[in-house]
Amino acid sequence: MLKPLSVCREEAVKHYSVIVVGGGPGGSSVAGHLDLDHLSDGALMIEKLDDGKFNRYNQMCGEGISRRGLAEAGLERADLQRNAVTKAVEHWPDGITLSSDINGSIIDRGKLIACLRKPFVSSGGEMVNGTVSRARRTNGGYVVESSEGAFSCRYLVGADGAHSIIRRMVFDVEPSTYMRVIQYLVDRPMENELHFTFDQRYMGKYRWEFPSGRHTKVGFPEGTDEAPRDAVDTHRRAIPIGRPDKIVDGGACLVGDAACQANPITFGGIRNSLAAGRMAADAINHGNIEDYQLKWERSPLADSTFLDVFNRLRWKTNEELAMLVKPLRYGPNVSAIMRELMNCDDFRTFYRGFVRKMENGW
Ligand SMILES: Cc1cc2nc3c(=O)[nH]c(=O)nc-3n(C[C@H](O)[C@H](O)[C@H](O)COP(=O)(O)OP(=O)(O)OC[C@H]3O[C@@H](n4cnc5c(N)ncnc54)[C@H](O)[C@@H]3O)c2cc1C
Repeated sequence: MLKPLSVCREEAVKHYSVIVVGGGPGGSSVAGHLDLDHLSDGALMIEKLDDGKFNRYNQMCGEGISRRGLAEAGLERADLQRNAVTKAVEHWPDGITLSSDINGSIIDRGKLIACLRKPFVSSGGEMVNGTVSRARRTNGGYVVESSEGAFSCRYLVGADGAHSIIRRMVFDVEPSTYMRVIQYLVDRPMENELHFTFDQRYMGKYRWEFPSGRHTKVGFPEGTDEAPRDAVDTHRRAIPIGRPDKIVDGGACLVGDAACQANPITFGGIRNSLAAGRMAADAINHGNIEDYQLKWERSPLADSTFLDVFNRLRWKTNEELAMLVKPLRYGPNVSAIMRELMNCDDFRTFYRGFVRKMENGW
């Protein structure tokens, strides 16, 4: 007797305990932390970009991460660092400048990702270059269709970035905001500092200038500024912002930009995707994927203050932005800060976000 075509297809596909879609920082962090010795059907990572395109894609990032973020991931290694960064300088309207000492790095994302994947590859994890075009639930798992064929799994991880196909097809949600940004590689070196310029035209985001080896990366929301004259390369990408209700559904979960986990004030997403990847892998290893949702929600990286600040800053005029930061302009002026904290709800939220982003924003 002939079987229906769908059954034949499902029987023909190779089955894994875990499939990770996307091999960026988030997907590679999940893969690198899976306990492959105890996953009976092994694990597969599917990444759509081949080596050349993958490296270029990964340069579309400021590549800034705090030392704390690297330490948490066990990746405080000199060979991953392009530049050390020791100061953050914020330029606000009305000529207000805020400087803070920081401790972090501009890293080489390609090398970081190779480090993350190493334990996965050495314990028998499989990797395939292919584009996932569809994913659907089956009895007890998922089937993923890709340019390299179909695969099935018990647990499915969507770590496929801003325009995640897994988020769309399995979770059926879209981010509340896509921040389209453009970044230029500029042929001049800069100090070991991160510079941020805030202005009403950036609508809650900012213009940034980061060192990148002997170059500088300059970026801003698309359409808000002119291209720098000495630009030698241009990158365009979107950062999704929001808080999806669910990042775990059945045996599927979302990690990194697919889960809108970049910080909504700093837009730093590397540390968050590394941390979320560890949490998701840990939950899968323990056979309780639901734990990942709870752990992420309770993490200081996911503090709701960050989104609250973003939503407030988006609509402020330059005059209002200047008023907001004025109490901070001469450093920690306790009486000015206390006065404002008692009298102004906007400042209270902004200040809370400002303090927390230093520790948990990047
Ligand atoms: C211009 C810019 C500058 C930034 N600067 C910083 C910074 O300085 N510091 C910081 O911490 N964060 C920064 N971020 C944010 C950071 O880049 C992201 O938050 C981070 O890359 C998220 O990692 P991810 O693994 O979730 O997603 P991604 O890095 O986007 O990786 C997703 C992977 O999935 C693959 N993929 C996508 N679709 C499919 C498919 N259908 N099938 C198979 N594979 C697929 C992609 O090829 C990609 O390799 C910046 C973002 C931008 C846009």
